[in-house]
Amino acid sequence: MAQESEQPLVLIHAARVFDGNSIRTDASVLVVGGLIAKIDAREAFKSSTAKVIDLGDATLLPGFIELHAHIGFQHVPADIVLKHGITTIRDVGGPLHKPYGGDGSLRVLTSGPIITAPGGYPIPELGSENIAIAVSTERQARETVRALIHGGAVVIKVALEPGGEAGSPWASEHHHTDSGQDHPHSKNNRPLLPENIVRAIVDEAHKQGRKVTAHIGEAKGAKIAVDSGIDEWAHIPCSVIPEALLKKAVERNIKTVTTLDILSKCPAVADNARTLAALGGKFLYGAEIAHPDIPWGIDAQELMEIMRMTDMQAIDALRSATSESGSHLNIPLLGTLQSGAPADMIAVKGDPVHAFKTLEYPDFVMSGGKIVVNNF
Ligand SMILES: [Zn+2]
Repeated sequence: MAQESEQPLVLIHAARVFDGNSIRTDASVLVVGGLIAKIDAREAFKSSTAKVIDLGDATLLPGFIELHAHIGFQHVPADIVLKHGITTIRDVGGPLHKPYGGDGSLRVLTSGPIITAPGGYPIPELGSENIAIAVSTERQARETVRALIHGGAVVIKVALEPGGEAGSPWASEHHHTDSGQDHPHSKNNRPLLPENIVRAIVDEAHKQGRKVTAHIGEAKGAKIAVDSGIDEWAHIPCSVIPEALLKKAVERNIKTVTTLDILSKCPAVADNARTLAALGGKFLYGAEIAHPDIPWGIDAQELMEIMRMTDMQAIDALRSATSESGSHLNIPLLGTLQSGAPADMIAVKGDPVHAFKTLEYPDFVMSGGKIVVNNF
C-alpha cells in the first residue's frame, strides 16, 4: 500500500459543509489522493501537515450528479459542465461508453442508445444512429440489453412515447415531408413497445444488476412502464396521469427524475409532481443537459422548480442531486462527503440555500482530488 505521505494531502476548511445529507458548520475535509480521507471538526486536524485551502465564508458541497443528459449525442463540452458544478453525469440516450472520467474530468456514465419500437420515438425525430435501437421481439430485446451492458451501460433506457403531449419539448419537432405532410406515423401516434417486450428488457437488465429508466410523458407509456417493472421515470410526466396510476408507481418504488425546467410548458406537470410528492414518491435531480434551454452545468431553476412543485425543502433538493443520486446509481459514497468517497466537491461563497443561482458558477471545483476551479 502506498504511504499516505507520498500522496498529496489537502485540507479544506469552509464555514459550512453540506456532506450530502446535512449542513455542518464545524467541519473540515481532508483529501488524500483522489478520495476523501476524513471529515471532522476543524480542531481535529490541528496537527495535520496537509496543504490547507481555507475557503472562509463559503459552503462546500459534493459535486452534483445530473441523471438526465445527452452530452455525447449533442457534443456538449464536458469541461464546461464540470466547471459549472456537475462532477458526474449520466447520459441517457447517446453513444455508449464504459464509465470514464472522475479524475479531474467529468465522470460520465452512459446508457447508450434508447431501446424503442421500430419507428418509435425518438427515431422519427432524431434518427437511429447512436440515439435509438429498435427491437421487435423479446429475444432481440434481451440480446440488445446484454450487448449494451457488455459495452458499459450503467442503466438501460427505453422510450414509451406515443408523442403529441401539448407543451412537451419533444412535441415541437419539425419533420415534415417535402409535400408538407407529416411523417407516416403522425406525431401523436408513435408505435410503443408492448408490455411483454419491456418486461423482457427489465428482466434481463435486473439479472445483470442494472436499473431500467423509461422516457414517458403521458398515461399510456406510464402504464406500460409501471406494469412491466421499470425502476425509474426519466421525466415527471408532461400530460395528466390518473392518480391511481401515480399511486401504483409510488407503491412500486419507481423514482422520478425531475427535468421540471424543460417541462415548464407542460400543463399537467405541476399537478403530477404535487400528487407524486403527496403520495410519497421519490424524486432525483436531472435537468436534461444538452437541451438548448438548459445551462451546461447545475441548473438553479431546476432546484427552484423541485422546491416549488414538490414542496421539498432546499436541503432535500440538494440531497436529490447528491447523496440520493449516488445511492440510486449504486455508488453509495458518490454524492457525499465522507471517508472513502471520491473527492468530487464544489464550493460557493456564502450560503447557496438562499441563492441557488450561485451554484451555477462555483468558485471551487474538485474532481477526484484534482482542482479544476479555484477562485478563492
Ligand atoms: Zn432526454
